[in-house]
Amino acid sequence: TIVQCHLLASQPKRLAWVQLAGHEGNFKAADEGSILKKFSENEKLCFEWLKDDALNLFVPSYYGVVERDGELFLKMKDLLAGLESPNVMDCKMGMRTYLEEELVLARVKPKLRADLYKKMVEVDSSAPTEKEQKQQAITKPRYMQWRESVSSTNTLGFRIEGIKRGENCSTDFKRTRSREDVTKIFRDFVGGNKNIINSYITRLEDIKKALKKSEFFKKHEVIGSSLLFIHNQKGRAEVWVIDFGKTTPLLDGQILDHHRPWTEGNREDGYLWGLDNLLQILASLARE
Ligand code: ATP
Ligand code: MG
Ligand code: MG
Repeated sequence: TIVQCHLLASQPKRLAWVQLAGHEGNFKAADEGSILKKFSENEKLCFEWLKDDALNLFVPSYYGVVERDGELFLKMKDLLAGLESPNVMDCKMGMRTYLEEELVLARVKPKLRADLYKKMVEVDSSAPTEKEQKQQAITKPRYMQWRESVSSTNTLGFRIEGIKRGENCSTDFKRTRSREDVTKIFRDFVGGNKNIINSYITRLEDIKKALKKSEFFKKHEVIGSSLLFIHNQKGRAEVWVIDFGKTTPLLDGQILDHHRPWTEGNREDGYLWGLDNLLQILASLARE
């Protein structure tokens, strides 16, 4: 994943939006109030299912598949439309960020990637093993597991992918791991504003209730999905559930509880465990 943070400064103000994390070029601005995300069959099926699901209120409205310059896109509501200089944070949920099937594939057919080796060394030159140094390459699950272990994914069940505050963007959180560090980043993000913290807590509690009711949530392995935190100076604060590119249906009536630890084969993702940790961190900020 190329973590990018670019502003479409040339767009009229009402269309200005930010891509905090995600693959560069995956998004296009569309007509007023909507954006286009590069098509994936998987994500399309999720959006279609979500239309009649308890979680739908917390997911950007979906307007179907459209074609632009010969490419397919999913059209959805632009969550930042109409907001003057919003503050935005992308938190990637779950204790795991790769699918079980990716792990199996890497074992059967290991594909060595020099680009991921390079990205690893950029963050920590001592991270590769001797063997990996000789190869100058690593597999994708190795890269993903290492990213999880140096961030808070494994310890808290979520991690901060990117933040925009005012005009400043940062995706420099790859080694933000401890509860203290994550708490500090949230504190700075809301500028110590208790009203915003409390609005975020209320909204997350509502999302948690919806997740517990959701048939979609029960029946999917939710990997790589994010909670997008958005607030402005006027005290408006929202959280949205986004990114279903790697959210995968379970088979044969299997259901997940999203809280138990993951062992290979059980497909658990730790989403609700991460959400509880997130809520605890915000609650501690509200008490300060
Ligand atoms: P990755 O899989 O690497 O996380 P991706 O290409 O699947 O990336 P998303 O995670 O869906 O992309 O989105 C990337 C970023 O784009 C988000 O962090 C958010 O800042 C912005 N974004 C996504 N969806 C919306 C939306 N509906 N409205 C406004 N901004 C959005
Ligand atoms: Mg994402
Ligand atoms: Mg994605």
